[in-house]
Amino acid sequence: MKKKQFKTESKRLLDLMINSVYTNKDIFLRELISNASDALDKLHFRTLTDNSGAAAGELTIRITPDKQARTLTIEDNGIGMTKDELENNLGTIAKSGTLAFRDENAGEGEGESALPEVIGQFGVGFYSAFMVAKKITVLSRAYGSDEANLWTSEGLDGYTVEPAEKDGRGTVITVYLKDNEGEESYDKYLETYTLRELVRKYSDYIRWPIKMLVETTRMKEHECECEHDHEDGECECGHEHKEPEYETVTEDQTLNSMVPLWRRNKAELTDEDYNGFYSDKFHDYEDPLAHIHTKAEGGVTYNAILYFPASAPYNFYSKNYKRGLQLYSNGVMIMESCEDMLPEYFGFVKGLVDSPDISLNISREMLQQNRQVRAIANGLKKKIKAELESMLKDDREKYEKFFKAFGLSLKYGIYESYGMEAENLADLLLFRSAKQDKQITLQEYLDAFEPNQTEIYYACGESPEMVRSLPQYKYLIDKGYDVLLMTDNVDEFMTKMMNGYKGKPFKSITDSDINAQSEDEKKAMAEKQEENKELIEAVKAALGDRVKEVRLSSRLSDSPAALTSEGPLSLEMEKVLSEMPLGGDAKAERILELNPEHPVFAALVKAKNEGGDLEGYAKLLYNQALMMAGLRIDDPAEFARAINALIVK
Ligand code: ADP
Ligand code: MG
Repeated sequence: MKKKQFKTESKRLLDLMINSVYTNKDIFLRELISNASDALDKLHFRTLTDNSGAAAGELTIRITPDKQARTLTIEDNGIGMTKDELENNLGTIAKSGTLAFRDENAGEGEGESALPEVIGQFGVGFYSAFMVAKKITVLSRAYGSDEANLWTSEGLDGYTVEPAEKDGRGTVITVYLKDNEGEESYDKYLETYTLRELVRKYSDYIRWPIKMLVETTRMKEHECECEHDHEDGECECGHEHKEPEYETVTEDQTLNSMVPLWRRNKAELTDEDYNGFYSDKFHDYEDPLAHIHTKAEGGVTYNAILYFPASAPYNFYSKNYKRGLQLYSNGVMIMESCEDMLPEYFGFVKGLVDSPDISLNISREMLQQNRQVRAIANGLKKKIKAELESMLKDDREKYEKFFKAFGLSLKYGIYESYGMEAENLADLLLFRSAKQDKQITLQEYLDAFEPNQTEIYYACGESPEMVRSLPQYKYLIDKGYDVLLMTDNVDEFMTKMMNGYKGKPFKSITDSDINAQSEDEKKAMAEKQEENKELIEAVKAALGDRVKEVRLSSRLSDSPAALTSEGPLSLEMEKVLSEMPLGGDAKAERILELNPEHPVFAALVKAKNEGGDLEGYAKLLYNQALMMAGLRIDDPAEFARAINALIVK
């Protein structure tokens, strides 16, 4: 019999396919099962339309491993294929699209490397079986025909089709497994255990039963007068039983659960159903905080179940964390974590999406540009946001728990988008309010504005206590203003990207210019500044380059001195950057503020007038201010000597 060649481009594709597209060989089974399922769908549809449904009998997919022959067969009683269909469907890979693609990429090299990415679009599913097979036969009899044909191929060198015998319609695909080579063993595809696991993992929700004959051992039944349970060979009533005897029986098992949870009606599902599914699927022992079950039809059709975990996985804030949703195409899993379905800042969401609009063989690269994927991702993003908003509104305690685990992710979302996502995310943020001593939203901060307030005051530091000890803090609190205590590293970077909230600017309490100060206050301070010009210059001279400027301030309450900064980088940001491995050594422009009302200031004046150690005092005050701001002092030994000298005096 004459062997027919695959078309040239098919050959090249096939070669690439076998060697590069799918690194995960396991998925061949998924591909064959999904084809069988399609064949059953087609038959089902045909028999519905020609009213012969009853005659179709039970529609099933059957998997049979044969260890002696080292073959695995996948059989279905679906629509089947005629001789022509065998040739057309299996003889040419990616009939239509590939040629066009090849023409566009006539030059070698570049086109070659791009090929695997494009392959995903076309129907190459069946050929994935060549990753594990040295030979494949397809015996098929089409619905309504009494002829059968056998298609045979050993891979690249072509295929044959010949008439054959087959009882009943459908298709039997026999995969002759490759010989084991070193590390690579194909025997596992003959093991009940592996096959069962693969079906559960990739094809659990195929809507037709996937059956397999499974050998199990069970206890032989024996006769006994008592009616007790004899499982253990022992009996509660104390009378003796024979040693248990075991027998091996063959059982026909259905490997898949068939009904995807997400396709079931919300109304018939309980929280328990959703949570059980979550722990099974995503291996989290804690119940999720919430779930979303959503369907969309029309523009793009999909079904999704999403979960908010109760706590952040240990590696959530590291690069190792795998974000993404499981992606299904008509009940068949095609990707374990599809990142493109979620914006990075919602990366904590777990779940799955099932859409018939996404091709089973779509590649990762194609997904990113896929219009349907973008539409789905957009829909899901809105759903997630709405769910978070309603949790914030209706269950504050739960929301705070959520925010504790994943709030950082939202903040990074704003920061990393240079504030573009602020509109989306700002309403979801929580900060500690100094006045109310609890977590509040930015809107709640605005709601509690003082009559003349125009700015949102915040203060950054390692802890709320540290922030509360900042000299400028007391000034604002005493005047009745609330201050947001920010303790995450990203906080200040984020507020800088935000461009205010609802038209009100963010102002750090250490900022030199805040509106909380009255004009009179500012004027009085300017006058004092002028009066003490020489002293201020002397202090600046003593500190040299350490500070950019020395000035007086009315906002230091009971502290003699404080550091503040000018320019884009604040002291807090400098601190955060200096702690990062690649943070560099960017420095904030430091300004030393002195409190003219403090007795220490009087002592400075005296030292200046009477030739005291003004330089020494200036350094002490500077170091003190550094410490208050949570920064390292320049020379601890020198600082200690200076203090000691003061004590001895
Ligand atoms: P796709 O499933 O994306 O179309 P495949 O390479 O997986 O691509 O399959 C190619 C074609 O072969 C299918 O479209 C179908 O027409 C046919 N086919 C494969 N397996 C079967 C089967 N078990 N029964 C009927 N037709 C099949
Ligand atoms: Mg297929």
